[in-house]
Amino acid sequence: MNANDLSIDTLLAQGGHFVDSETGAVVPPIHSATTFARNRRYELTAYEYSRDANPTGAHVEHVLSRLEGAEDALAFSSGMAAISAFFDTVNSGEHVVAPRVMYYGAANLLRRLAERRGIEVSFFDAARPGALEAAVRPGRTSVVWIETCVNPTWDVIDVRAAAEASHSAGAVLGVDATATPPVTLKALDLGADIVFHSASKYLGGHSDLLAGVLATSRADERWEELNSARTQMGGVLGAFEAWLLLRGMRTLHLRYERQAANALAIARHFENRAGVEAVLYPGLKSHAGHEIAKRQMAGSFGAMLSLLVEGGAQAARQIATRTRLFVPATSLGGVESLIEHRASVEGPSSAVPQNLLRLSVGIERVDELIADLEQAIV
Ligand SMILES: *Cc1c(COP(=O)(O)O)cnc(C)c1O
Repeated sequence: MNANDLSIDTLLAQGGHFVDSETGAVVPPIHSATTFARNRRYELTAYEYSRDANPTGAHVEHVLSRLEGAEDALAFSSGMAAISAFFDTVNSGEHVVAPRVMYYGAANLLRRLAERRGIEVSFFDAARPGALEAAVRPGRTSVVWIETCVNPTWDVIDVRAAAEASHSAGAVLGVDATATPPVTLKALDLGADIVFHSASKYLGGHSDLLAGVLATSRADERWEELNSARTQMGGVLGAFEAWLLLRGMRTLHLRYERQAANALAIARHFENRAGVEAVLYPGLKSHAGHEIAKRQMAGSFGAMLSLLVEGGAQAARQIATRTRLFVPATSLGGVESLIEHRASVEGPSSAVPQNLLRLSVGIERVDELIADLEQAIV
């Protein structure tokens, strides 16, 4: 069997099919060296200095590249380091389009770039059909940045349609696919130019490492610039984290399958419950993005959902203090379930509804998770 044709599941399980040629080790070593010797002719052999690139990082990049069907991938010290490097390639005077409700760290970065670097940013309403197309300006927009699903309302953006709108305007499409790892959505196959993951979430999967990833459909000039930006800004992934990420990724397909099945069961259970105004989850037929999600996601509808509860911010915060299994903490994608009142975390500038509780569903037994929420919502 040709190793290039392997399924995502097999690729993940085998960590990129690694066997060390010298020792037979089935797990790659952690190369902690920061510097690499030249040969007798004073030439570099493979690596020079680990801020440019390092063997453990390169291994994880190789696996990620194959998972995404990408031409190349770059690993960064955090998701935000990757997003910062990406937007560093946007010049002053250029126009960027992004959703109004999105990961707030990225939204804050865009507002900062608008204020300090003269980049113009238009935020569109991802819940309104045609809003992205209307925000794009042919010949003016250089980057369209989207998330799918949109955190934390889980609106679904049609990646293929976004790619068509971006490309016809001469813009590049970048997709933050943190909530939909390549086991369920392959953004590059849907027409995106660049796909981003906060690998601190599902790819790592155990809430114990920070990492970010960019993968590209083609290693063009922008990509080379991005690579230089990583070296210059210094946000490369460290060898220990790269190793941990690779280890976490080996069970991604199993974790995600269980997490998504749990999320669907929770969404269905609370869909018509008293005290809950709405359940936001693309796997529910009632969700506005259900049909698009069905088209562009394979095997599941993700493991993130939000509840809009009766009683506003106060009731929502109370529920988040009453759960015993759902841990009241930020972040997502780990094997343990988390609950969060996003509006409190994001502060006064937040565009998130005050009565929204975000759930990151883990791999626990779903009946116990449901019982936990039942006693908390009262
Ligand atoms: C966490 C997150 C990020 C930022 O990644 P870090 O690894 O925390 O820097 C970006 N986008 C989304 C959707 C996220 O959930």
